[in-house]
Amino acid sequence: MNAAAGTAVRGRAHAIVIGGSIAGLLAARVLSEAFERVTIVDRDELDDAPTPRKGVPQSPQVHAILTRSYEAITELFPGLAEELLAQGASIYDSGTGMAAHLNGCWMLRDRCDLTYIDCTRPLYEAKLRSRTRRLPNVAFVPRATVRTPVCDEAGTVVGVEAEDAATGAISRLEADLVVDASGRATHAPRWLAALGYGAPETEEVRVDLAYVGAMYRRAPSFQARANMYVIYPNPPTSWRGAILQRVEAGQWKLSQWGMFGDSPALDDASFLVFSQTLTSPEITDFLRESERLSEFKRMGVPTNRWHRYDRMQRFPANFFCVGDAVSSVNPIYGQGMTKAAIHAMHLRTLLREGLPTPQVAERMRQGIPALVERQAWMTTVYGDLVFPQAAGRRPADFRFVTWYTRCIGELASTDLAARRAYQAALTLRDGPYALFRPRLFAKALAYAARRRFVPFERRVNAGSMPTVD
Ligand SMILES: Cc1cc2nc3c(=O)[nH]c(=O)nc-3n(C[C@H](O)[C@H](O)[C@H](O)COP(=O)(O)OP(=O)(O)OC[C@H]3O[C@@H](n4cnc5c(N)ncnc54)[C@H](O)[C@@H]3O)c2cc1C
Repeated sequence: MNAAAGTAVRGRAHAIVIGGSIAGLLAARVLSEAFERVTIVDRDELDDAPTPRKGVPQSPQVHAILTRSYEAITELFPGLAEELLAQGASIYDSGTGMAAHLNGCWMLRDRCDLTYIDCTRPLYEAKLRSRTRRLPNVAFVPRATVRTPVCDEAGTVVGVEAEDAATGAISRLEADLVVDASGRATHAPRWLAALGYGAPETEEVRVDLAYVGAMYRRAPSFQARANMYVIYPNPPTSWRGAILQRVEAGQWKLSQWGMFGDSPALDDASFLVFSQTLTSPEITDFLRESERLSEFKRMGVPTNRWHRYDRMQRFPANFFCVGDAVSSVNPIYGQGMTKAAIHAMHLRTLLREGLPTPQVAERMRQGIPALVERQAWMTTVYGDLVFPQAAGRRPADFRFVTWYTRCIGELASTDLAARRAYQAALTLRDGPYALFRPRLFAKALAYAARRRFVPFERRVNAGSMPTVD
C-alpha cells in the first residue's frame, strides 16, 4: 500500500471488488494504493491464459483499446503496453492506423495523437490480470459468485456474501468498501431493492444488436493498408457494420454486426454475403481469400442500458458500481473498457485526496455521470436514436445534436481539426463540448451551408480508402 495515500485514513483496511474483468482489475489496482488489502471475487476460474471465458461472453469479439485506456494502463501498470507489444499487439496513432468509413464517407487519415492498442480482448485481460496478481496486497477469490452485499443497520455496506461454485457453500467476507464491477449482468439494482433502498431508474434504448466474429489468416492477396478497418452503418438506411483488426500472432479478428434483429449468419457463405451489404467493400475483399481460423461466435446486445444510481434518494454507504455495472452502451464505438479506465482514474483522484471512504463511494456514485456516462450516452445512444427502429425517448436537444455531429462527421472526411475533434469525442478523450469550440463551430456552419448546394460526393471522400505514407 502507498502509505501516503492510505494509512492515515481510517476505514481502509479491506476493499472487495465484485468481478475480475477490466473494470474490476483497474479498480483493484487503484484501491491497492489506498487500502491495506483488496480482494477480487469472480464467479469464473481466473487464470492468466489469454482465452475467452464464460463470465465475459463478449470476449471473442473485436475489442479496440482506445486512447484513455492506453493512458490509464501506461500510468497504472508501467511496461504493460510494452508487454502487449511483445506479444504481438499493435500500438499506433489511430489517425493513421485506423481506416474508418463513417456517414457514407472515409474519415481523413492523418496523425491525430490518439493512441490505440489492437490485440484480442482475452490477451488484454490476461495481461491486466497477471499484473494485478503481482500486487502484494491484492488477492483473488475465483469460482465464487457474490449473492449480495451485506449491509448493517446503519445502512453501511460491510461486506458480501459469496457462494462457492464447487460446494455451494455461502461465506461472508467483511470489507470497509465494496465495489461492484460485475458487468452488464450486474444484480446491483436487485440487491439494492432487497436491501430496502428501492431499485434505480434504468434508461434503456433498444437496438437488438448482434455481433458475429471469428479469427482469420489474411490472404496475401489482401493488402493490409491499416491496422484496423471500421465500416460503420450509414443511418438511417444502413444498420450493418464491421470491424477488422490486426491482432497478435499476425492474425486478424473480424466482427460484423447488424442492428434491430438483423444479424450476420454463422457460416462462411452468408458471412461473405453480409459483408457485401456494408457501405464499403474492404471487408468483402478481405474475406474472399482469407482463411478462417476459429469458430464463429455470436453475441447479442439487446439495449443500451444505464442504471441511474446517481438519482437514488437513498443509497447504502461504502458501496458503488463501476464499468458496465453502471452503464453499457452500444459497443460499435468501443467505449466500454475506456469508460472503466476513466472510472478507475477518477477513483484514484478521490482516494488521493484522502477523503473518508464513505465520501469516496458517494462521490463515485454521484460523479460518474458527469465524468463520462453522459458523454458515452450522447455519442452512442443519440447515434442509435437516429434510426427510426430504435425504441427510446428522443431528448429535447436530439435533433440539433445529431444534425450538428453529422455535419462534423462528414467534415472529418476532409478537415483534420474536425476529424480529430470528432474522434476525440467518440473515444471519450475530450468532452463533447470540444465539438462546439468556436472555430470548429464556424467551420461546421459553413459546411452545413455547402451541404445545401454541393453534392455529397464533392463535399466528402466517398470513394476509395485514403492511404497514408
Ligand atoms: C460485442 C461487444 C463488443 C465490444 N467491443 C468493445 C471494444 O471494441 N472496446 C471496448 O472498450 N469495449 C467493447 N465492448 C464493451 C466491453 O466488453 C465492456 O465494456 C467491458 O468488458 C466492461 O468491463 P466490466 O469489467 O465492467 O464487465 P465485464 O467485462 O462484463 O466483466 C464482469 C465480470 O464480473 C464477473 N461477475 C459477474 N457477476 C458476478 C457475481 N455476482 N459475482 C462474482 N463475479 C461476477 C464476471 O465473471 C466477469 O468477470 C464490447 C462489448 C460487446 C458486447
